[in-house]
Amino acid sequence: MDYEYKRANFYKEADDKTLAEISRYAEEYKSFLFSSKTERGASATAEKLAKERGYKPYTFGDKIKAGDKLYFINRGKNIFLMRIGKNDISERGVKIMAAHVDSPRLDLKPNPLFEESGVAYFKTHYYGGIKKYQWTTIPLALHGVVALPGGEIKSVCVGEDEADPIFYITDLLPHLSQEQNAKPLATAISGENLNAIVAGVPEKGEEEKAVKAAVLKLLHAKYGITEVDFQASELCFVPAGKPRDVGFDRAFISAYGHDDKVCAYPEMTALFECHSDDTIISVFADKEETGSDGVTGMQSHVILDLLDSVSRALGADPVLVRYHSKCVSADVTAAFDPAYSDVYEKRNASYINCGASLTKYHGARGKSSTNDASAEMVAYLRDAFDNAGVIWQTGELGKIDIGGGGTVAKFIANLGIDTCDMGVPVLSMHAPYEVISKADLYSMHLAMKAFCEA
Ligand code: MN
Ligand code: MN
Repeated sequence: MDYEYKRANFYKEADDKTLAEISRYAEEYKSFLFSSKTERGASATAEKLAKERGYKPYTFGDKIKAGDKLYFINRGKNIFLMRIGKNDISERGVKIMAAHVDSPRLDLKPNPLFEESGVAYFKTHYYGGIKKYQWTTIPLALHGVVALPGGEIKSVCVGEDEADPIFYITDLLPHLSQEQNAKPLATAISGENLNAIVAGVPEKGEEEKAVKAAVLKLLHAKYGITEVDFQASELCFVPAGKPRDVGFDRAFISAYGHDDKVCAYPEMTALFECHSDDTIISVFADKEETGSDGVTGMQSHVILDLLDSVSRALGADPVLVRYHSKCVSADVTAAFDPAYSDVYEKRNASYINCGASLTKYHGARGKSSTNDASAEMVAYLRDAFDNAGVIWQTGELGKIDIGGGGTVAKFIANLGIDTCDMGVPVLSMHAPYEVISKADLYSMHLAMKAFCEA
């Protein structure tokens, strides 16, 4: 009998077979992650993987039956994967796993292009919570879509192929940084200075703004767009390049967008692999990093419409279905970082390599604006994880009154669905390159599978 709570190190507990599984799973995740830098990318990749496994597109009002494997894409940016089970959803409810697939980045402004001293730049407006200084002097790739007059959609992806150019935001040389160095970190780099270099060769015969003229010509030749078309676009800069292993032993992965694809991928693979007669929905949400507002965010009515639609199609009362449903809000948490130990409360921090971390509550100050999961819900998950032999842990984000955070948990709980947060601990969260443990990633997969099979 263990009377004391101790976290276990998953690498230490894992046998050779499990260690091999951890490595294999990490390789699949890295490939998913590289093709999923934006919410559109992640939704498209999930659709492709689901189709390969026999999932069929679903629209509101479709007839459905037990055994169906379906997906619903909300405006290309938010996908719901659904497995319809044999069990009566009026009694068992639906099991929901909800992660988000948008990540902090630099969006282009509606009129982004300008030329200054012979260089053309795109002006950006940051998306989500970033530390601005981290986004200078790193290779950036441009991702997104432009909607042309008449409705044609042009996809853009520049900077990910080895042969592609990248884009670049400058910072001041140390020699002239005396004044900048004296400023607080938060204001030393301003949002309006996050302008990326996009071109430098002038158009022959043009006197004024010749580089801007040349790059507009080039963009028209390549994509058929003119300057005004940026106004109907969703283009953003994200860190360029592939996920990389970290450490001699390759224990960790550094990549852009672990938050929250490191939880989205495990909930999807859990759905694909689990043996369960329950109806299960895996959600890839958009807009979490800006507050979950908007038509593809978790505050949108779409999830409710989908639950209603599925309930009615199965002849169940949607109110009963929601009341009996359970949700894991699958989102990352902060991993304890010894370099900044004073912002963590050591007994209640999440530790890297100790498995996916259950977070009973987020919020700020006195648990403001939190979904605080009930004791019963936590106990339900504990049984599910422990019965399946999952190595997992619990923690809170950081010390009291030092900051705080939120996830989609409260928006789903507000629909009358028992919800609890669970996710992979991340080092340098929201940085251009975040770090996670391969063991924690695999633990998240096992935890989500255990939830599906509980
Ligand atoms: Mn997140
Ligand atoms: Mn985040």
